[in-house]
Amino acid sequence: MSGGTDRTEAGGQGAPTRVLVLNSGSSSVKYQLIDMAGAERAGSGDSGETREDAAGGERLATGVVERIGEAGGVPGHAEALEEVSRQLGEQGLGLDSPLLAAVGHRVVHGGTRFTQPVVVTDEVLRGIEQLVPLAPLHNPANIAGIRVARGLRPDLPQVAVFDTAFHSTIPEAAARYAIDTAVADRYGVRRYGFHGTSHRYVSRAAARLLGRDPAEVNVIVLHLGNGASASAVRGGVCVDTSMGMTPLEGLVMGTRSGDLDPAVLIHLARVGGMDTDELDTLLNKRSGLLGLCGANDMREIGRRMAEGDEAARLAFDVYIHRLRRYVGAFTAVLGRVDAVVFTAGVGENSAAVRAAALAGLEPLGIELDPVRNAVRASGARVVSTAASQVTVAVVPTDEEWEIARQTYRLARGAAGGTREPGAPA
Ligand code: ADP
Repeated sequence: MSGGTDRTEAGGQGAPTRVLVLNSGSSSVKYQLIDMAGAERAGSGDSGETREDAAGGERLATGVVERIGEAGGVPGHAEALEEVSRQLGEQGLGLDSPLLAAVGHRVVHGGTRFTQPVVVTDEVLRGIEQLVPLAPLHNPANIAGIRVARGLRPDLPQVAVFDTAFHSTIPEAAARYAIDTAVADRYGVRRYGFHGTSHRYVSRAAARLLGRDPAEVNVIVLHLGNGASASAVRGGVCVDTSMGMTPLEGLVMGTRSGDLDPAVLIHLARVGGMDTDELDTLLNKRSGLLGLCGANDMREIGRRMAEGDEAARLAFDVYIHRLRRYVGAFTAVLGRVDAVVFTAGVGENSAAVRAAALAGLEPLGIELDPVRNAVRASGARVVSTAASQVTVAVVPTDEEWEIARQTYRLARGAAGGTREPGAPA
């Protein structure tokens, strides 16, 4: 955190250059205040995108308000945003600042309608509401955050940045499930993908690390946090991803199962007598690493494996096996892979996961350097050997910065008007 005064030199002529990024979840609101003045200098517009410099934006404040609706916490999102406003005010960075250019909101589900970030209008808000059935846990909290922020600063552009948007380019062959098309269309059943803001940011940052234009490189991004997903990005365009209609499909996660035979659900309903809520809880909250060994933190699993704990070893092995399957599958999808990139909590920090996931893949041109891989560092770095045909990299994700960048770009276009630049038809 730095700064605390309104430094009007930013952006020249005191133009507002700050973006408040809000990630409103059901029980917490995370926020960051980022000054985009430096980032603007580093590169703007489509042609400048390849030169965009993540270090260009300056983070002025970051924080979280937790336990919304819980004992000891604030009662609702309105109070949570008042608390955010109070915390920022204490640092001289209040929401009433004329230097605030816009508020950027993370919105989880954009369906097929929102394939780009949009300036929020009443019509956009209705559209996000219509998608609630596809994201019943996430979109309502996102909507609450947008409504409250609009109320606090109705004069500012509020921009919605969708987790699904980066995946909207996935071809039908990869996005469609092989079920009756009429049923699929009636209920919006298709693969949308999530973590898109991270996959976009990391795939581009990886290209920069390689010293190449994103349009030239094919990248497999492995976003391994509590939630985990893989994506195949060809020339800057996403062509496949592991998450599906919801963030449940794909990799093994902290508490989510990832892929499983859909008939397991039918079996558990028929034979186990489980209803839909029980199945939902089982697969989203009692599965993954937690379901396999009782722990969902990779650090604890590492410690337990070192003590010879067999359940922790099995959980690790299942996690790694799934990851390797996706690396193989996305190698086939892309044909040529220039980089495999690890990001998020596990991907950035666990040398053991990276080593196990890529062990023995030399025939695919992937050769991890054990010494580079073991080095603990915080920045973007290459962890493959100089001879490796495929570059293996660790790139810290920065979803907030990416949301701020997209928000700032749109807000400048929307300044003084209510039009929706980039809004899908
Ligand atoms: P989220 O999906 O909530 O944003 P993160 O990307 O912060 O999650 O990742 C959180 C996970 O990262 C933790 O559950 C933990 O398993 C893992 N993690 C964090 N630090 C380490 C570490 N040093 N070694 C292994 N795993 C780590």
